[in-house]
Amino acid sequence: MQAAVVAKSTRAPLLVNGTSMSSTASPSCLRCGECCRKGGPALHSEDRLLVVDGVIHTRHLFTIRSGETAWDPVRGGLVQVPEEIVKIKGCDGEWTCRFFDAGASACRIHAERPLECRVLECRDPDRLARVYGERRLGRSDLLSGVEGLWELIRDHDRRCDCNRARGLLAQRRPEAERELSEMIRYDEELRRLMVGRGGLEPEMLEFLLGRPMALVVRLMRREGETGGQAAEAPPPALTEDS
Ligand code: SF4
Repeated sequence: MQAAVVAKSTRAPLLVNGTSMSSTASPSCLRCGECCRKGGPALHSEDRLLVVDGVIHTRHLFTIRSGETAWDPVRGGLVQVPEEIVKIKGCDGEWTCRFFDAGASACRIHAERPLECRVLECRDPDRLARVYGERRLGRSDLLSGVEGLWELIRDHDRRCDCNRARGLLAQRRPEAERELSEMIRYDEELRRLMVGRGGLEPEMLEFLLGRPMALVVRLMRREGETGGQAAEAPPPALTEDS
């Protein structure tokens, strides 16, 4: 399923905080692909039409929900995300952005690459820092008009609230563990039904519902064991087996 369709239009020139920025790679860019191997970008409002127009399919995205832990490339550390982030997935269980062509060391959607990729200049990290936390694209920007589905996602967010899960883990009580187990069970059942009865492509689940609750809780537990400093950031397309 692709997101609800709106009229196609020419994408706007690149403006950051009202200032025009070159959308081409810097002359000093060696196109080594190092940035792309570190992971796909988070999307911003400026990227919405890339999804609506099908340049980036929603099956290529995943959602990090509010309260989850994620790697912040600007701060260079793990942070608890205050609002959800929609990102391009990695591929083959690696960080590498799935639009990166390793053979050609090039981006497969170079002419229409997302905002963060257009502003990123490895020798000038301030360019990314200026846009990183601004005008993030969320699932509501793409799905709030899809009747039925959006209500289902909202309900899942309420029942499987990551901030609530974090609080329950901190309690270390049997009742809290039972509630966590119920969250995980509900999440698993909903995913199973959406694919089995709803006919949804399994690849869509990490965008629509975020990463599986069992995985989210496991990563939070790991974080707790290391005093809030997880040994490494969770890869972008972690599976239940990771
Ligand atoms: S979209 Fe293109 S430029 Fe951006 S990280 Fe992926 S491969 Fe690299």
